[in-house]
Amino acid sequence: MTVLIDCCQKEKIRMMIKLFSDTKIKELLDLLHTSSNIAIVTHVNPDGDAIGSVTALNGFLKEKGVRSTIIVPNHFPDFLKWMNGCENILVYFNQKDRCERALKNSDLLFCCDFNKLSRLDALGEFIETLNMKKVLIDHHIGVEEKDFDLVFSITPISSTCEIICNIIRQITGKKHVPPQIAESLYTGIMTDTGAFTHSCSSGLFRIVADLMDCGISREKIHSAVYNSFSVNRMRLMGYCIEKMEVLPEYRTACIALTREEMDRFNFEPGDTEGFVNIPLSIKDTVLSVFFMESKEGYIKLSLRSVGEFSVDSMARKYFNGGGHKNASGGKSFVSLDETVSFFKSILPEIMQN
Ligand code: 5GP
Ligand code: MN
Repeated sequence: MTVLIDCCQKEKIRMMIKLFSDTKIKELLDLLHTSSNIAIVTHVNPDGDAIGSVTALNGFLKEKGVRSTIIVPNHFPDFLKWMNGCENILVYFNQKDRCERALKNSDLLFCCDFNKLSRLDALGEFIETLNMKKVLIDHHIGVEEKDFDLVFSITPISSTCEIICNIIRQITGKKHVPPQIAESLYTGIMTDTGAFTHSCSSGLFRIVADLMDCGISREKIHSAVYNSFSVNRMRLMGYCIEKMEVLPEYRTACIALTREEMDRFNFEPGDTEGFVNIPLSIKDTVLSVFFMESKEGYIKLSLRSVGEFSVDSMARKYFNGGGHKNASGGKSFVSLDETVSFFKSILPEIMQN
């Protein structure tokens, strides 16, 4: 087991010099050269960084003459489906047999944008029964090291796409990548930074400048991801804002959505993406939580904070989850009402510290 890379010094990130040692890159190349079937997976409810990182990696491997299969646990939003390679993504939720066959045949698995196999739900349970080598590329807090053989993890970095971009640059020794790969990388960076509003180092902007020079259209990407709401999604957003509960004494706001309400707006995967950020626009609000009844039967939580308050700690301690200091997710296995009541009951204590 290779040890987790030392938390990268800010200066290294700023200068965009090698994030990983030559030895580590060589280990990765050795694994690539000795593997014949490669699969790439990402987390449940894949977002822009998840799809961006798996498609960029898949595109890079293809460039090198290596074929790989991308598998995701469940459906992902239409506004990400334009990325190169998405047309061949297998979805475990409704293509279980095909995914399991592909995984059984794989001798190398890339795990992108998640920190432990349990983040893949049933797909993760299946992978645990197999014994291929596993390479993690991720930026979440709290990597479960026993789940992986080689780990590329940097937590104070914008996105998994930023890490993949660095790995590709270290391997090729070049700043530029083919445009389709640049599009995927740019998308992951854009979505995980909230369109370049947080987690942006000056080094990241240098990388983004290089990606722009690869011949991508920023306008096209921005429009595909952010200006592609269905009417239903827009109305659901209005409904959620109307429904939002504000708790000014705790500088907190929350929104809870039932399955019945989602059905009323013909909910599609990704329709609530980003809604959790909306309450943070209210002056002085530092915590926003979005609760939603998932298809799988549990309550899915999205948590966002501003400043020092860590939603990662909160999600870990109370909601079987985690993520980043200011953006995390979690699960609750009691009803929506009970979950919201529990959340309100812990607010006095957690907002005091
Ligand atoms: P979102 O609220 O957009 O679903 O997720 C926010 C961040 O938290 C993302 O980086 C996501 O990968 C992570 N995250 C979401 N749900 C979970 C969860 O159940 N467990 C953990 N450990 N991380 C999560
Ligand atoms: Mn990410």
